Amino acid sequence: MQDLAIRSTDLHCALAGLGLNPTFRKTGAIDVYLRSRRKEKKKLLSYAELQGFEPTLAPVTGGTHEAEEWTLESRSFVRAMLDDAAGHGAEIVFGTPVRELLSQGGRVVGVRTPSGTIRSEKVVLAAGLHSAALAAQVGIRLPLRGGRGYVVDLAARPGFDPTIPVRIKEHRIVVTPLEDRVRVCGSIEFGNENRPVAHERGAAMVDIASTVLPGLRGRRVIDQWAGERPCSPDGLPLIGAAEGVENLVVATGHGMWGLILAPVTAELITEHVIDPGPTRNESDWLRPDRFTR
Ligand SMILES: Cc1cc2nc3c(=O)[nH]c(=O)nc-3n(C[C@H](O)[C@H](O)[C@H](O)COP(=O)(O)OP(=O)(O)OC[C@H]3O[C@@H](n4cnc5c(N)ncnc54)[C@H](O)[C@@H]3O)c2cc1C
Repeated sequence: MQDLAIRSTDLHCALAGLGLNPTFRKTGAIDVYLRSRRKEKKKLLSYAELQGFEPTLAPVTGGTHEAEEWTLESRSFVRAMLDDAAGHGAEIVFGTPVRELLSQGGRVVGVRTPSGTIRSEKVVLAAGLHSAALAAQVGIRLPLRGGRGYVVDLAARPGFDPTIPVRIKEHRIVVTPLEDRVRVCGSIEFGNENRPVAHERGAAMVDIASTVLPGLRGRRVIDQWAGERPCSPDGLPLIGAAEGVENLVVATGHGMWGLILAPVTAELITEHVIDPGPTRNESDWLRPDRFTR
């Protein structure tokens, strides 16, 4: 999986080179610990050393600096991808849910939507958590569960914002400075995916983030949301053609890695959609039918 992430980071860089990844940059990041740990995998930096990387940091027990970390703002990336696809002739239709995968004799031949049927030579199923219900219609089992995470965006305050991403390890909270905001993000909860969003979880994350980065205290919240990460039972994505169902290519189950792995996923499914080419080694462990067999 790490190899896929590295390959995908290279592809993110290539997209940035083409002007298609407007906020992508190598920032590095620090991981901080609030309590002492019994076993250390690697020697921790002291608070003073960590302050050298992030001057707005409050006292912590220790931490590490990871130089090979990249940051991007997700919506600007998705927007750039959509614009580029449209520029290449893709027709993008919003607000049109696919209700049914149409199949005939073991082949998918199109999709049914409330505004009509779309016939197609290939169908790529990439509907996040909702991919499971659609795949079930053609006999593919995708046992996905939603891993709910929260995002709270705080208004930027130049001079008081962190300068690099800070990961508060015990709480699994990430604080990322972006162009016009500071994003506080984290948590992974499993339960009924239709339950209401508990915004107090986001507020609790901001509280913790503000103890580690006191400059964040009292900031105006400019956006907040929660999202369901599509998680598979083995923690690996489901990418590729499904055995027994022709013309269907699946790309889902990325869990916490969907943004990192987006370019490499596109590369892998392109091989199935346009040019089957030589099968790569990862195809077997990513097979979308591995839970059906
Ligand atoms: C708080 C939070 C923080 C995260 N941080 C990171 C991070 O730092 N790095 C990282 O790599 N990943 C991160 N992720 C994970 C990443 O967001 C997901 O892995 C990724 O969004 C999954 O992409 P997807 O396209 O498979 O699914 P989704 O993003 O869920 O997109 C599925 C799309 O399909 C549409 N859809 C659903 N059903 C239908 C239908 N029937 N017909 C038509 N369209 C349909 C939906 O409207 C949606 O637009 C984070 C997630 C959360 C929640």
